[in-house]
Amino acid sequence: MSSINIYHFMPDKLNLYGDIGNIIALTKRAKWRGIDVKVTDVKETTGLSLSEADILFIGGGSDREQAIATQELFRIKDDFKAAIEDGVPALTICGGYQFLGEKYVTPDGQSLPGLNILDFYTESKKDRLTGNIVIESETFGQIVGFENHGGRTYHPYGTLGNVISGYGNNDTDKKEGLHYKNLLGTYLHGPILPKNHEITDYLLKAACERKNIEFGSMDGDNIVEENAKKVIIDRLLAEK
Ligand code: GLN
Repeated sequence: MSSINIYHFMPDKLNLYGDIGNIIALTKRAKWRGIDVKVTDVKETTGLSLSEADILFIGGGSDREQAIATQELFRIKDDFKAAIEDGVPALTICGGYQFLGEKYVTPDGQSLPGLNILDFYTESKKDRLTGNIVIESETFGQIVGFENHGGRTYHPYGTLGNVISGYGNNDTDKKEGLHYKNLLGTYLHGPILPKNHEITDYLLKAACERKNIEFGSMDGDNIVEENAKKVIIDRLLAEK
């Protein structure tokens, strides 16, 4: 059986609002296509190589946990950047997304250095951007999720799409997330992948293409997922 390796960074620290569900969604949808998945939990990075990683995943966390995790991830920042530039698919959520920039400025003005993988920054405020969110995406169609962040992120790269309801990257742009090569950064918890199978399949397909694994048809359909998504989108847009 063909197999892909998912590297899950700091699962014990960065797992807000069920972010682990993203790993479950990736694993299930790969298996439904006859592709086996091995998940490597990365809790410390000393001596770690990313050469066997097919998908990288970082979840979200509080400011405190984020600061601890950043210190650990600093050791592999050059390898991480090289993997992203090489097109390894990656999903990073909220705090995990903010990490990838140059800095995270806390509400009291403290500047915490990020991994500087890409050229952007996040500034946090005391009032939080919280609630359900709907995005219209050219690549993925309509995306739904839940956000809760003090951070406002500003970057010059592609995004996941336009915010129809909710906040997204900050409280002014009406854009959500970041899309650079096969790296996706997003504020969406919930978790995002079980609610948005198009994004799950995007990551799996990119991983399979890099490994010359056939990304064949799936055992099953997406009717339940699509109906669930429609219910929440209709409700949120009606409330606007
Ligand atoms: N600490 C970050 C913020 O509040 C990330 C929160 C999160 O991951 N949900 O902006």
